[in-house]
Amino acid sequence: MLTLKERGKVYHEKARMVIACEGARGIIRKNIRKASDNFIVTYQTFSEGIIDLDTDFFHVFLNPHFSGYDAWFNVKDNHLIIGVGVKNASMMKSYHSKFLSFLKSHYNAQIGKPEKMEVSIIPEIRPGYTVDLGEGRVLFAGDAANFLNPMGEGISSALASGYAVAEAIKSNIHGNNINPNIYFKVI
Ligand SMILES: Cc1cc2nc3c(=O)[nH]c(=O)nc-3n(C[C@H](O)[C@H](O)[C@H](O)COP(=O)(O)OP(=O)(O)OC[C@H]3O[C@@H](n4cnc5c(N)ncnc54)[C@H](O)[C@@H]3O)c2cc1C
Repeated sequence: MLTLKERGKVYHEKARMVIACEGARGIIRKNIRKASDNFIVTYQTFSEGIIDLDTDFFHVFLNPHFSGYDAWFNVKDNHLIIGVGVKNASMMKSYHSKFLSFLKSHYNAQIGKPEKMEVSIIPEIRPGYTVDLGEGRVLFAGDAANFLNPMGEGISSALASGYAVAEAIKSNIHGNNINPNIYFKVI
């Protein structure tokens, strides 16, 4: 993973083909599509504790009072994970705090001090669920291509689409335009 300082450095590379898999906020796709950023900031905490919710499930709450997108609760490695997605990063802690109060009042959550906090980004999934495969000699994979599904799963599709785009390029290694249909067929 690149540090922010490293990502800030501008340098140029020459390549016949580019596979852009930069995640939800890639500059390659942004530059090619001249598109504004459409991403959601995620904030989640990891704590020990107990709660009256089935810990074998991933629970999603769509009440706009708790998040600007969705709020979730799940358990991993014996830690209670409480997260919110927001469009405006400055709101993430206040939404998280409201969601936590809700879990306490409705599900008897007794949650210790967070041992870890994580801030990340995901693509914003909009109606229509548009996938962008890229064009010409620049193709996209994973979150950069919008392969995150509406349930927030994107790891397997990132692996599969990265593989598929590499296969599509291999099949036309001397061409100038990679046909995205080939890419679709592989997937
Ligand atoms: C809180 C949270 C929970 C999630 N839980 C799940 C889950 O349980 N299951 C699941 O399937 N998915 C989950 N996802 C989604 C999943 O993490 C992503 O869909 C997946 O990581 C996408 O992979 P990617 O390789 O496309 O992008 P990323 O994993 O975002 O990787 C992109 C990489 O490219 C680097 N990069 C960016 N720009 C440049 C550049 N210009 N040059 C070089 N490198 C660059 C970034 O630093 C980053 O390391 C979750 C996401 C979040 C935020």
